[in-house]
Amino acid sequence: MAEKEKSMSDYEKNPSNILPQKYTLDSKIKFRCHPGVSCFTACCGNINIILTPFDILRLRKYLKLPAQEFLLRFTTPMMIEKTDMPGVKLHLDENGRCPFVTDEGCMIYPERPSACRYYPVGMANFHEGGQEGVDSEQFFFLVKEPHCKGHEEDKVWTIREWRADQGVDVCDEMNREWLELVMRRKSFGFQATLSEQAKKMFFMVSTDLDKFREFIFKSSFLNTYEIDQETLEKIKEDDIELLRFSYKYLRSALFGTKDLKIKEEKIKAKTEEIKNQQVSKEQEAIHVYEELKAERDRMLAAKQNKK
Ligand code: SF4
Ligand code: SF4
Repeated sequence: MAEKEKSMSDYEKNPSNILPQKYTLDSKIKFRCHPGVSCFTACCGNINIILTPFDILRLRKYLKLPAQEFLLRFTTPMMIEKTDMPGVKLHLDENGRCPFVTDEGCMIYPERPSACRYYPVGMANFHEGGQEGVDSEQFFFLVKEPHCKGHEEDKVWTIREWRADQGVDVCDEMNREWLELVMRRKSFGFQATLSEQAKKMFFMVSTDLDKFREFIFKSSFLNTYEIDQETLEKIKEDDIELLRFSYKYLRSALFGTKDLKIKEEKIKAKTEEIKNQQVSKEQEAIHVYEELKAERDRMLAAKQNKK
């Protein structure tokens, strides 16, 4: 099941719920969540579940819905915390409950979002700038909220065993590059905000892979980027390959990395355009200067005539 808040920074709002201890994959925890606990599904309301691109893909496939319909029916747009990046979270019903919770439990349990799988074991990274070549120190922490009776159960397992049981590893692998993008953006602060166009592009690529595929194959995208045939064939059919490719595209478009290569002729055309813009700016400056000089000469001549 899920809990109220999900990321390390969220828990900082109420740090008393985080046990003051760093856990490794081999650390042991005592916890079990099952339909017999008295609090069953208590944690599936008043929550903030941000969906990653991988969550959206899995969920809409499970529900057999096109991305747009899934987004409209089950999500609410939001800004990812401390960034200017738009994303979506699960839309709660009028009672503040998750749209997928029933008395029997989670309707979408096999494909539940990453955030629901992590609880009560959070993961934190130091050096979260997401920069290339910078190693981050990873550790785990345990969240113990008063309403959650799972901690009173007798089951003992390592963090590694817990994560394997919850299917967290595959989520981590598929979410890692997207989270790095978000962390990297966070490290910029708000000094340099994304243009409206960049925000729209980030939202489209992160939430709707069908549209992203259309954008690749039905716009000038392939005239701009050099993409090898093998990659093209993979991303045409395979959503997971397209998801991985989308991270490369976002990195390259938002941070100028070399993940995707821009075609030589495009670079030349852009250089020429910038050069022309510079020439026309210079001409404009000369023109303004000439006008000022003429005005000054007129004023001087008028002064001379008065004498
Ligand atoms: S998706 Fe499932 S586990 Fe997550 S909050 Fe909703 S009902 Fe609970
Ligand atoms: S034991 Fe904890 S995680 Fe499980 S349903 Fe209860 S509150 Fe949710």
